[in-house]
Amino acid sequence: MHRLFHWIPKLTTTPGPSPRPFRFLQPHGALHCGALSLETLARKFGTPLYVYSADQIAERLALFQQAFAGRDALVCYAVKANSALAILNLLARRGAGFDIVSGGELERVLAVAPDATARVVFSGVGKTPQEIDLALAADILQFNVESQAELELLAARARRLKRKARFALRVNPDVFAETHPYISTGLREHKFGIDIRRALALYKSVAGDRWLQVHGISVHIGSQIRSADPFGAAMDRVYKLVRQLHRAGIPVHCIDAGGGLGIDYHGGSFDAAAKVSEYAQALDQALDGFNGRLLLEPGRFLVAQAGALLARVLCVKRNGSKTFVITDAAMNDLIRPALYQAHHEIVPVRSRAGKPRIVDVVGPVCESGDFFARDRSLAPVRPGDLVALLDAGAYGMAQSSNYNTRPRPAEVLVEGRKARLIRRRETVADLLAPEQDVQEK
Ligand SMILES: *Cc1c(COP(=O)(O)O)cnc(C)c1O
Repeated sequence: MHRLFHWIPKLTTTPGPSPRPFRFLQPHGALHCGALSLETLARKFGTPLYVYSADQIAERLALFQQAFAGRDALVCYAVKANSALAILNLLARRGAGFDIVSGGELERVLAVAPDATARVVFSGVGKTPQEIDLALAADILQFNVESQAELELLAARARRLKRKARFALRVNPDVFAETHPYISTGLREHKFGIDIRRALALYKSVAGDRWLQVHGISVHIGSQIRSADPFGAAMDRVYKLVRQLHRAGIPVHCIDAGGGLGIDYHGGSFDAAAKVSEYAQALDQALDGFNGRLLLEPGRFLVAQAGALLARVLCVKRNGSKTFVITDAAMNDLIRPALYQAHHEIVPVRSRAGKPRIVDVVGPVCESGDFFARDRSLAPVRPGDLVALLDAGAYGMAQSSNYNTRPRPAEVLVEGRKARLIRRRETVADLLAPEQDVQEK
């Protein structure tokens, strides 16, 4: 069997729970990322600051690659989770491919790893002709097509550019994945994918097309899914469709299982290796007999727990019965609590003596939705103290904005004993640059 993308990493990790990258280290007692103190990083780079552990990202990728090493598998990291060029580069060097959802994300891959375009899959419900052309020119591995109209558009662009387009239909397997409604995608009522019962006919309708090549079937049932069962159920349905297609004379060599494997946002020990192996088992069981290529699109699982958002306490304020801890980071820097009612552990970087208090941790943005935690028990903090919002490596900086004309944070990647600034802090001048002054002359 031709194993174009097979990649077996060196076994650098031992099974079992690996230490979290963010830990309190003695003798100083301050929170560290790897060997580096967050106090030092805050002093050097300022706050708010995103800090990522390169070691943990590499380790998580290796876990995935090892769990599927018995197959012709390719891990296509979902760029939207954290699209920092340095992180894409780190992953590309270790053999990862990429799942992109825009032309902009393709440009990011082209900027750091142009030879990785052969490992790129292009997902998303609304691709523009320009984005399709860019991806055709880059000769990406596969277009994940989400509607008949998109398939027609892809065929038209491919014909025009005289480039064969390898495609998969993103089918909607109609499985329910228990997660937040905003990030659940696998039900028939969602905007994503094509009803799996309609897919066979659609594949048949283009089977002879000169510019379209039936390459695979893809699914993605949602995000932050904690149980392996729905993934197995979705794969069952997909493999059934593969067999139907086979009987219809349309061989499908590639199954794209999507992403969505969840993590634990509530602290405590998290056995990532066990989670991945449980996930791999569910897929393997459903795909027993399938020996084509398997694509995996983890996003959050690779980067979430590798990152923290470091913020400084501006003031502690009492209003009536409530206590508010106001930080220099806000919802524009990390919107997950406001958008998904997401939980992030918040820890003082250096603990003080005293009893924890029930507080709301909030930012300075003019919105009541600007909070990181409500009615949370937090160890005592004072103005000037540093706090870390943990597990913020995925959908943190990626979803940040300039709301309230707030420059976005800097980002630092910790590799061994080195901290590398991978994105400088924005300035207000950066924010104003694209605008036109409309004052009369
Ligand atoms: C968002 C997304 C992913 C990644 O999801 P995670 O929950 O971060 O693993 C993978 N594939 C597609 C198509 C997506 O939209």
